[in-house]
Amino acid sequence: AKAQGRHRLQFFEPGINDHISQRLKMEQALRLALSNRELSLHYQPQYSLRTGALTGFEALLRWHSAELGYVGPDRFIPLAEETGLIAPIGEWVLRSACEQGARWRAEGMEVAIAVNVSACQFRHDLPDLVASALESTGLPAGLLVIEVTETALMQDLEQTAAMLLQLRALGVRIALDDFGTGYSSLAYLKRLPLDKLKLDRAFIQSLPDDSDDTAIVRAMLDVARHLGLETVAEGIETPQQQAFLDGVGCAEGQGYLYARPMPAEQATDFMREAQIP
Ligand code: C2E
Ligand code: CA
Ligand code: CA
Ligand code: CA
Repeated sequence: AKAQGRHRLQFFEPGINDHISQRLKMEQALRLALSNRELSLHYQPQYSLRTGALTGFEALLRWHSAELGYVGPDRFIPLAEETGLIAPIGEWVLRSACEQGARWRAEGMEVAIAVNVSACQFRHDLPDLVASALESTGLPAGLLVIEVTETALMQDLEQTAAMLLQLRALGVRIALDDFGTGYSSLAYLKRLPLDKLKLDRAFIQSLPDDSDDTAIVRAMLDVARHLGLETVAEGIETPQQQAFLDGVGCAEGQGYLYARPMPAEQATDFMREAQIP
């Protein structure tokens, strides 16, 4: 029994071993993803709800692994964070997104580019990385938006505020992503130099029928207005959601109603069409 059970000595549940080897496999594949050119960015458009004009794109990371097939960011970003791989990957994302923004601008399509930055990237050298990405690609800082989540900001408030100021000094804008889903107090908003609040899809999806969510969204927009922050709603899927959000003064919107995230070439075509008067 002992010899037979050798490989099973560590864990009683066979499922756990599967889970661990699965994870190791993904980690090994992710280590090679950059050099194997398996990562790409998709772009999802953002619009002014008032004018309907396209204002920018959010860059979203995609991984088509030769070994594992398509793996969604909700699965591999946490792994990249735990293993430290997020540093090189995040740097690649930043540079690639800035490159694309600069290319679009050179072709006469000046749009803002929003890039997600995870909590572990939120370290002292971030302003240097951003400055170097802007410099080497030639993207004007005013076209770059850094999206951060509450968890990233709450780790060390003093240090965070100092770093945000450095980023802003470059001319970059800062958006608070998934606003309302974290545990932060509203008082923090006042102490952090932010430019934009991104209302999470969780509050958008049952608009305009749910009376709790309509109240919450109105309240969040009120807060934003009083603090002088721009607003974006994410996950807009229906014309009714759009109409409600426009009606209560949300400035911008993003969601499947307009377009899913798409590869850069497709986004270029999309923009050309969108710009036809
Ligand atoms: P997020 O930053 O909150 O991005 C919004 C997510 O909502 C994206 O999922 C987007 O495709 C999806 N979405 C947009 N509109 C709609 C809609 O109308 N309905 C629904 N159901 N979903 C919509 P995605 O691309 O799978 O990304 C998931 C998360 O992975 C992102 O959430 C972000 O936290 C993370 N992520 C993606 N790319 C990066 C990256 O380059 N760096 C980092 N650190 N995280 C990233
Ligand atoms: Ca985001
Ligand atoms: Ca979000
Ligand atoms: Ca989200």
